[in-house]
This record gives sequence, structure tokens and C-alpha cells, in this order.
Amino acid sequence: MCNFTINYYYHQNCMNREKHAVKLDSSEGGMSTSTSVCREGPHKIFKLEPGECPECRPNI
Ligand SMILES: [Zn+2]
Ligand SMILES: [Zn+2]
Repeated sequence: MCNFTINYYYHQNCMNREKHAVKLDSSEGGMSTSTSVCREGPHKIFKLEPGECPECRPNI
């Protein structure tokens, strides 16, 4: 497990979590050594935010 990650905060009803993410939170292990940099990173981590996505809100 490495700490090269990006947190996507999304709303429960959202159908496009990456594009509609409320906010992004990245942690690249600031002061860590080079060994912590992951080739496969950044890893996407999706986190649920309270509320609804205004863009994926059903029409009508
Ligand atoms: Zn959405
Ligand atoms: Zn990794």
C-alpha cells in the first residue's frame, strides 16, 4: 500500500464520479523518500459526500 493517492469526493447519486467530483484531495507523501512513489499511482479513491450531485439530478 502506498500513499500516492487522489481522493475523489462524490455524491451518492452521481453517475460520473471523476468529472463531477466535489473536490479532489491528493496526497503524494510530501516528505517521504523516493521509494514511496508508486508507478501505478496515483490511486483513485472514491469517498462519499453527503448531498446530491447537481449535474446528475434527474430531470423532470
Ligand atoms: Zn454527477
Ligand atoms: Zn501505489
